[in-house]
Amino acid sequence: MRIESKLPNVGTTIFTVMSGLANQVGAINLSQGFPNYQPSYRLQQLVTEHMAKGANQYSPMPGILPLRERIAEKIRLMYEVSVDPETEITITAGGTQAIFCAIAAFVRPGDEVILLEPCYDSYRPSVETVGGVAVPYPLSAPDYQVDWNEVKKRITPRTRMLCINTPQNPTGTILREADMLKIQEILRGTDVILMSDEVYEHLIYDGEPHASALRYPELYARTLAIYSFGKTYHNTGWKTGYCVAPPELTREFRKIHQFNVFSANHPMQAAFADFMADPAEYLGLPEFYQQKRDFFLQAMSATRFKPLPCAGTYFQLFDYSAISDEQDLAFCKRLTTEYGVAAIPVSSFYSDLKDEKVIRLCFAKTEDLLAQAGERLSKV
Ligand code: GLN
Repeated sequence: MRIESKLPNVGTTIFTVMSGLANQVGAINLSQGFPNYQPSYRLQQLVTEHMAKGANQYSPMPGILPLRERIAEKIRLMYEVSVDPETEITITAGGTQAIFCAIAAFVRPGDEVILLEPCYDSYRPSVETVGGVAVPYPLSAPDYQVDWNEVKKRITPRTRMLCINTPQNPTGTILREADMLKIQEILRGTDVILMSDEVYEHLIYDGEPHASALRYPELYARTLAIYSFGKTYHNTGWKTGYCVAPPELTREFRKIHQFNVFSANHPMQAAFADFMADPAEYLGLPEFYQQKRDFFLQAMSATRFKPLPCAGTYFQLFDYSAISDEQDLAFCKRLTTEYGVAAIPVSSFYSDLKDEKVIRLCFAKTEDLLAQAGERLSKV
């Protein structure tokens, strides 16, 4: 039997490869993005309590209403807009599943999807799985500035979707109000859907606000905005997130979601609904992570790695061109095996594997681990 791969150029994700190598050689794993500390003990207790009380069967397909109501409250508090928890919020099995459903719900064979690269590595395979064509716009180090006229040039009658990510993984850049207004302008009069991946919404530094697509009514009318509890509550393994979109878009999103996972983890949803009553946890995140970013930069200051600007996310990029002209993937593997620190090569976020000698390190780690990583990297 002949098996014809739908994704012939896709292997195992770089996160799995680098975390696997890190575990195999016992390296400090700053590659895959996840915290090395635990979620709130109270939140863990709430999950157990809800399990004991019986939240062990399917939740309603769009997620439990009390959690969707809490999310609507949070959106009002953070972005000063009102969304209807019944018709505009869907709880998902994490951000990546929500991204897949958003793409699968709207992209047909031959449709074009514009990607601002370097971007999260699930976008392109998700587009291609449903027969779409990824149209990359490659941004460049060190500032990864977006020229919206370049985006506009890529819009054709076949364009079905534009994917943005703010704060952006892996670049650490953010889109600001002027960017969002420009997107609104270039999409005006088109049938292009906006997939706005905002999973790092709370991880923005130096007092800057998050320019969520939810804030701009004209833009929101064509938006599916994606969020992740894992990034906010330090539990990426719970695989819980949500999608916010106007009712007409949510209706289509749920048609895919219901046959993809049907519904997300029930006890986690119940626990989040209780825990979100207090916004202190997420309101404190910018400060919590900014401190880690600054601690890490300090720990890295004795190395030959050159930091790039980081306005958001829990990723810090470093230019290693002063150290080696090796290809970034080979360099990351060598860092892991020879120096005991695992990193992600930024080329893996480009369709053409553009190598600018930049690596991504995750600073969602305790200070002792960050200090140790800095120490090891000072020998490179
Ligand atoms: N979003 C995380 C990262 O960029 C990892 C996601 C994953 O491993 N699937 O590191």
